[in-house]
Amino acid sequence: MTSCPPARGAHLDAIRNILTVDLEEWFHIDELLIPVGTWDGLESRVEENTRALLALLDACGVRATFFALGWVAARHQSLILEIHERGHEIATHGYLHRTVASMTPAEFRADLQSARLAVEGCCGGPVLGHRAARWSLGGAPGGGRRGRASGMVTEALDVLIGEGIRYDASLAPIVHIGDPSWPRDPYSIERPGGSIVELPPLVGRFIGVSLLFASGWALRRVPNRVLLREIERRNRRGVPAVIDVHTWELDPGSPRVRLPFMHRLAHYGGLRGFDAKLAELLRSVPWSPARDHLVPPAAASIESPNRAARIAKSEPSTNPFASTSAAAE
Ligand SMILES: [Zn+2]
Repeated sequence: MTSCPPARGAHLDAIRNILTVDLEEWFHIDELLIPVGTWDGLESRVEENTRALLALLDACGVRATFFALGWVAARHQSLILEIHERGHEIATHGYLHRTVASMTPAEFRADLQSARLAVEGCCGGPVLGHRAARWSLGGAPGGGRRGRASGMVTEALDVLIGEGIRYDASLAPIVHIGDPSWPRDPYSIERPGGSIVELPPLVGRFIGVSLLFASGWALRRVPNRVLLREIERRNRRGVPAVIDVHTWELDPGSPRVRLPFMHRLAHYGGLRGFDAKLAELLRSVPWSPARDHLVPPAAASIESPNRAARIAKSEPSTNPFASTSAAAE
């Protein structure tokens, strides 16, 4: 699949949304269901899947941020270099796809450092961005009040800041894997050791239910006209939407494992035909990597490229990224 169909709906050319990719194998689902010790014995499909996605991105003229799993980067160095050389950003998805809440801060730091070394060994650095496995910077899924996640893991935020990571994209403003009270727009989190920008995934309502539009089942099955309506609503306020694609989603023929119902839906529902649906979405509004939304370090803050564009044009800004202290102290 390398063609890109015509756009659906109107363009809002001034705003670039943020396309992210979780670069991982089909078996990076849950470390308890498919343990790390079995991974090297399983069929690798990441190269073929990623090249299919790269061809689709080229056809649509889109550059993305690839959150590469360190375990994959260490085994597919030429693939990481190729992604980099094709103009995409390489960021980190951790090394072993462990959830943040399952690690001590020291273990999280070691996993992050291993992941960065693996990526930077392929294409240099520095790595600027991070996404936790399974949105788990928000805590244990369902472990909090009223079905929310157990709460933002502030020790991990401190590790990210201490390691020089400038943005994270792991806090989902939705029940179970996150908390609907968290901001939906990009914002800066202030901690004693510094600040970090958070890029929350797109959420929206479909047939009366709040869903994670950015990723998984909803991205694959909710009609593009509904997704685009939500994206354009944000864009009109000068805010980019953040979308997350997994490389294995371009591979409906990947091996299947027995999963609990919700896992099964999240991983396997709507894989067939997703490449065409994604291409239409990518063609309909502008996209860019997350790094393009950072201002130079010397400016000591990180803001929307849309705001930067307004500043360049000397227009008044209505949407600087909000700043907040981490709520879960
Ligand atoms: Zn992942």
